[in-house]
Amino acid sequence: MNEPDPEVDDDGGSPACFAHLLCPECAAVPEDDATVCWRCGTDLPQRRER
Ligand SMILES: [Zn+2]
Repeated sequence: MNEPDPEVDDDGGSPACFAHLLCPECAAVPEDDATVCWRCGTDLPQRRER
C-alpha cells in the first residue's frame, strides 16, 4: 500500500480518497458513473466492481 504523501497539505481541499477518482490526464473530477472524462474524454477506470 502506498502511504499518503506527507508533503501534501490538505487544508480544506478535496479529500484524499478522491485522488484515485480523478482523471489521470487533466485531474478533473469525473461525474458519478462516468466512464470517460467530461473534460478531456479520457477513458476512466471503472469504479464499479462486479
Ligand atoms: Zn480529463
